[in-house]
Formats: sequence, structure tokens, C-alpha cells
Amino acid sequence: MANDLHQLTIHEAHELLRQRKISSTELTRSVLHRIGHVEEKVRACVTIAEDIALREAKKVDDYINTNREIAPLTGIPTLIKDVICTKGIRTTCSSKILENFIPPYDATVIERLRKEKAIIVGKANMDEFAMGSSTEHSAFFPTHNPWDLARVPGGSSGGSAAAVAADETICALGSDTGGSVRQPAALCSVVGLKPTYGRVSRFGLVAFASSLDQIGPLTKDVTDCALVMNTISGYDPRDSTSVPYPVPDYARQLTGDIRGLKIGIPKEYFVEGMEDQVRAGVEAAVEKLRELGAEVDWEVSLPHTKYALAVYYILAPSEASANLARYDGVKYGFSERDAGNVIETTEKTRQSGFGPEVKRRIMLGTYALSAGYYDAYYHKAQKVRTLIKREFDQAFEKYDALVTPTSPVAPFRLGEKLEDPIQMYLSDICTLPVNIAGIPAISVPAGFADDLPIGMQIMGKPFSEETLLRIAFAYEQATDWHKRRPPLS
Ligand code: GLN
Repeated sequence: MANDLHQLTIHEAHELLRQRKISSTELTRSVLHRIGHVEEKVRACVTIAEDIALREAKKVDDYINTNREIAPLTGIPTLIKDVICTKGIRTTCSSKILENFIPPYDATVIERLRKEKAIIVGKANMDEFAMGSSTEHSAFFPTHNPWDLARVPGGSSGGSAAAVAADETICALGSDTGGSVRQPAALCSVVGLKPTYGRVSRFGLVAFASSLDQIGPLTKDVTDCALVMNTISGYDPRDSTSVPYPVPDYARQLTGDIRGLKIGIPKEYFVEGMEDQVRAGVEAAVEKLRELGAEVDWEVSLPHTKYALAVYYILAPSEASANLARYDGVKYGFSERDAGNVIETTEKTRQSGFGPEVKRRIMLGTYALSAGYYDAYYHKAQKVRTLIKREFDQAFEKYDALVTPTSPVAPFRLGEKLEDPIQMYLSDICTLPVNIAGIPAISVPAGFADDLPIGMQIMGKPFSEETLLRIAFAYEQATDWHKRRPPLS
């Protein structure tokens, strides 16, 4: 058994650690061995923190041996998207401009993981600054989908999702600005949750679009998702947008019972261009929820959904253009120091430090915010944002949750959408509205189309993560998609 420990979920590994049947060192070694075995094909990791991880695991084993009770994440190997600051471990955002940046502090989520004695095994590849849907915009290398190495894992948290699917880690963290946890979760057949805006601290999360960004877990099943949420959620005085609501025990809500819950299916999410097998897969999943006792209404309409993509691609680049102004060749990492004066240093640093997608966003955002266009674009987009949010509020007066596909398509081929930004942007058509409204949503494995993963998205009102997890868990109990493993090696 000792060789297969990397295949365990958090809750399975926890049980074995608690009973002292395995050690954290054995578990961490198994994960590192697996990384060594498959990473050449999957390429999910930017940094593998082997020595640090083994040193920590040894310390945790000493702790486990002298303490009766351990927390659910104690001794559990965890991979972190490279947009989250880890003290002493390089944090690159998969960008040349931060290639050698070693943060002097931990993000709050990392502090919380460390407090529970989780083991950080490394940093996951991503689209540069989390801008993208395929992980092909990484400045270093693309990540491959473990289910079909010629295809993308989704993005921007593609490294985190692919690593969980390939058993290169027990669990991972990602970040989601427009779908970057849920869409790669769907494309890799793992569970991914975007929490309510304000539920999880953004302190130490490198900012992309601050009014949309949230950190969320990527895990092998719904129980693990609840356990990671228990650890990372909660108020943080260092993030002024974090909300001081108490954190429920998310794992306790996993009863398997969803009888009487009202679930709406908004028709606008079954968009033109959606693949037939994805549609059929999600419809079958909804039918399963009905069999489990949920009341399903197929006639829901959210007409403002059609503006979500346009709103997002005004707001996100606008905020990004402001947030990324700090990379000036003076304060952080990479710098064209010999450029002459400070203006030229900044210009040249940004010219060679940022990749093409990041530059596109900065230009779009700068334009949308410029004096003459602010009202026409940014201000207008904010107004439509309010309409989208209101439409959700109204729907949630009637329904406990809304169910949609996570991605309109199964994993696409590497390179397929790279030359066509609009096609790439459309990957997140089903996930963007959730960030615009600040609500939570989870993606769960919901079958396969010709052996490629399909994901179902469940959205809820603010701070209804418990309900979403409950529905997701009931569905998971009734299916075994989450037990399938990609045919790697
Ligand atoms: N794909 C979307 C974008 O490129 C969302 C990214 C994200 O959620 N970080 O902006």
C-alpha cells in the first residue's frame, strides 16, 4: 500500500495518520515520488519544494507522535497555485517579471494551512497573472491535461487541477476571478469551489482583479473540499473585504439528503456553441438530483447573463491595469536595470517582463479607464454588474441553488484557441457571472464525453457554501465519476 499513498483523499489519509498507520513523511514521499514519475508529461508544477516539504513532514510526524488529536489537514501534502505568496518559496505568477520573487511573508491562507500543519509541496503552474483559461499563457511552459496529454487542463489554475487529477498532490489551492478554479476542475474531473466574495482572505494573493478574485480549493472529492474550506475561510483584519461571519463546519453538512431542495436550471447557460455531450451530461446530472429528491425547475431565465462576458472584460482588465502598475522594475523581481533612466527601466522591464495576454489586458483596461471613456465603459459595466447581481438575488428568493454546465466544452487541444482570444474568453461564459455577483459556486465531476471530463456547476446565494457542498456531496454519493483516475503511465 505504501506506494499508492498519493492516491488517497485528505479524509482517507487523515484517518491513517490519526491511527498512526502511515506517517506524513511516507505520504509526502509518495507524493514527491509520483511527481517525479508523471511530471515530465503533465508539467503541473513551477516549483517543487522537496527539501522543505520533507523537513516539515518530519516535524509533523514528531508532533503526531506526541499528540492524540490532529487537525484534518495535519501532515497532508498540498500544492499552491503560484499566485499565492509563500514565505521563502518562490512565487512567480508564471510570469517572467516575478520569476525570482521570493515573498517575505505568507498569504493568510498559507498561514492557516501551516497552523493546521499541512505540508506545502510546491507551487502550481498557471496562466500568467491568472489571465487565461488553458494554462498556455504561462511564461514557462503549458500544463497538459492528465486525461489526454494533447489537451489543455483549463485555466488559469490548470497546474493545481491537473496535479490533483494526476495524484501529484493530495489537494491544491487555486484562485478564481472569472472561473479559474471551477473551469479547470471541470476539465480535469476534480472538485473546485469558488467561495463567496469575502469568505476567504485575499491577503497575500497577488492581485489580478480585486473585486472578483477569491481563493478556492481543488480536491479529489467533496468531503475534501469541505475540509479545506474549514481551514481557509474566515475573517482576516488584513483584508478589508473579508467578512466577519462565523465559519460553519462545512464537513458536517454532508448528509447526502437533498430532498425538498429547490433547484433552478437557467436556460441562458445552455449557450450556443455548447457541445452536445456536455449538455447531455449535465442534463443527466440534473435528472440524478431530481431522483435524489430535489425539486427541479427547468424554466428559469436570467436574461442579463448575456452581458456577463462583456462586463467581465471591461471590469477585470480595468482592475488589472491598476493592480499591475506596481511592476515597474524598481520594487519587485525582474528589472531591466541598465536601461538608462527610471522611465526607460520601467518601460523596458514591462516590455520584456509581461507576456502578450497580460499586455492585452493592461491596454484594454487602461483604455476603458481613460478620462473620456470611463463613463462609457467602466461605469456602464458597473451598472450592468448591479443588474446581474439583482437577477441572482431574485432567483435565490425562489431557489436554493442554480445548476449549469461549468464549461460549455470538454478539454480542447493545446494551441486550439491560442490565436483567438475571444474563443478563449468564451471558455468562462458559464462561470463569469458568479464572480460578477460575488456569489459562491462549486464544480463537480459529472461524467465524460469520449473519455474527456464534464463538470456540473452549482451556484448559490452569498454564504450558502454549505448548501452547495450538500448538493454536491449527495450527487457524488450517487455517482462514481470522482473515483475514476486518468490513464497516466
Ligand atoms: N479566464 C478568465 C480570464 O482570463 C478568468 C481567469 C481567472 O478566473 N483568473 O480572465
